[in-house]
Amino acid sequence: MNYIQIKLRAGKEESLLRFHPWVFSGAIQSMSGQPDEGDVVEVIDSRGEFLGRGHYQIGSIAVRILTFEPRDIDLDFYKERLRAALEVRRSIGLLDGDYNDTCRLVHGEGDYLPGLVIDLYGRTAVMQAHAPGMHYARRLLAQALQEVMGGAVQNIFYKSETTLPYKAQLDASNEYLLGGSADDIAVERGLKFHVDWLKGQKTGFFVDQRDNRALLERYARGRSVLNMFCYTGGFSFAAMRGGAKLVHSVDSSSKAIDLTNKNVELNFPNDGRHRAFAEDAFKFLEHAGSDYDLIILDPPAFAKHKNVLRNALQGYRKLNAAALEKIASGGILFTFSCSQVVSKNDFRLAVFSAAAQTRRKVRILHQLAQPADHPVNIYHPEGEYLKGLVLYVE
Ligand code: SAH
Repeated sequence: MNYIQIKLRAGKEESLLRFHPWVFSGAIQSMSGQPDEGDVVEVIDSRGEFLGRGHYQIGSIAVRILTFEPRDIDLDFYKERLRAALEVRRSIGLLDGDYNDTCRLVHGEGDYLPGLVIDLYGRTAVMQAHAPGMHYARRLLAQALQEVMGGAVQNIFYKSETTLPYKAQLDASNEYLLGGSADDIAVERGLKFHVDWLKGQKTGFFVDQRDNRALLERYARGRSVLNMFCYTGGFSFAAMRGGAKLVHSVDSSSKAIDLTNKNVELNFPNDGRHRAFAEDAFKFLEHAGSDYDLIILDPPAFAKHKNVLRNALQGYRKLNAAALEKIASGGILFTFSCSQVVSKNDFRLAVFSAAAQTRRKVRILHQLAQPADHPVNIYHPEGEYLKGLVLYVE
């Protein structure tokens, strides 16, 4: 195949030679033609040497490299990438029969497929494009996925209405690329939950907290648990299985609260230990008692861009201070940030400030991160986004 070539300015090939998969628009010297958004282009250095091939896009990231080898981006290419992604999950014991049929199969750059996310919920795969190139490749990707997964995937739901760059004007509509009506119950570590991939946030469930929920479960016995920003209740039913004395779930969205109640009921029918509240987290904490001795704070990303970082850090400080004010002595706080632009150190500093403000004695028990099915390509540290601290508070 013939590809439009994008030539980089002298010296701008360095990051690509170190396998970083992004070409910034400022690095481009010239193009052999005008590619359309989403086209596969070839990137060469200032002397004309081949560097890689990837999806072209208008914006500050101009090319997302798919391969550093001179090969075609076709069905075989995508099948190979998907097979490799599946192999990683299988080799670490995920997707192991009935006990766990939920995981992230493709984590963008972490699986050498920049701009693509695929989450698996039982027999349904939810596919999300974050770049125009993946949007245009969606049918090819669906075919590749079907061939790689065989009968294990019977529905593929494409959900990119809100994740593609607005300027690209792709008007992507959410749709099934395979199958349709489906069983909406999936299983994480033996716990069942309904997934609303049609209308729910992200792909329908926060798969990235699986390991952290498992840790919480270990600490829940006999405790009074407050699960803030509960969404579909993942931490709540883990706490219940762990033997919590009571579990209160809070989310400002009443739809989320309905789903949490439904999911708790699915696993623990008629269990009086759980109550859910549709309320703003800050307001709830203001009037909360001081009996909770296990609190989870898993808010949405407070910073989506670098320019709002300062405000975001203030937000994390305030939220954590509010929880640290209220938590019982001997309590454990699980606190998270999923903002990619907030570094591990930034987040720790925000929590430190919160602790200092409340003057509680606080020790760090664990430093948490995203699980193995959200791998970070070592050449692309930007792929690291979830961080958490588990604190012991006296
Ligand atoms: N912990 C969840 C994921 C949290 S997603 C899980 O394990 O699945 C973030 C959630 O925060 C969303 O459900 C959103 O509705 C909720 N939210 C956003 N702002 C809020 C606020 N001010 N108070 C309470 N909940 C809020």
